[in-house]
Amino acid sequence: MSKKAPAGGMSEQDVQRFALAYHEAAHAVVHAMFGGHVVDVRISRGWFSGCYKGRARITGEVVPTEEAAHLLAGGIAMARWLEDNTDMSASAARRKGRESAQGDLSDLKALRRKYKDDAPTEKAAQRFAEELVNRHWSRISAVAERLAAKGRLSGADVRRLAGAPAVKKTRKGAA
Ligand SMILES: [Zn+2]
Repeated sequence: MSKKAPAGGMSEQDVQRFALAYHEAAHAVVHAMFGGHVVDVRISRGWFSGCYKGRARITGEVVPTEEAAHLLAGGIAMARWLEDNTDMSASAARRKGRESAQGDLSDLKALRRKYKDDAPTEKAAQRFAEELVNRHWSRISAVAERLAAKGRLSGADVRRLAGAPAVKKTRKGAA
């Protein structure tokens, strides 16, 4: 089996950084495109572990199907970026994306416990999230590339780069 070498002479560290930037950018963009509020999004490299960590801080009232989709969008976007930009196979890229989404998957389980029948199944949420990542790919790319360069973006940066709609005042009753 060939060793997974990143394309274009990208270092392993750059691959990690970009993959994670796409993961966090997808959370933020999908949430913002639903009219949700993004506080900020960041990635940083642990000085000791050398590993990249990221988070997207978001707030606002949510509809279960939208919340589920934004949770799963992170791992899906990371997988797509890895598949397109490294010589990783599609299935290896999907595995990596899923590994990066362990926290998101437990959040989805909690969401399903909370909303019961109003929450989508994981399968339905996955399908919806895939559709959204495809639909918003150029927005996710714009945010992720900037995030990879800067390390942090404010919610206003995310909205501007993604061309997202204004934040909804109240999310109650949204479909
Ligand atoms: Zn995530």
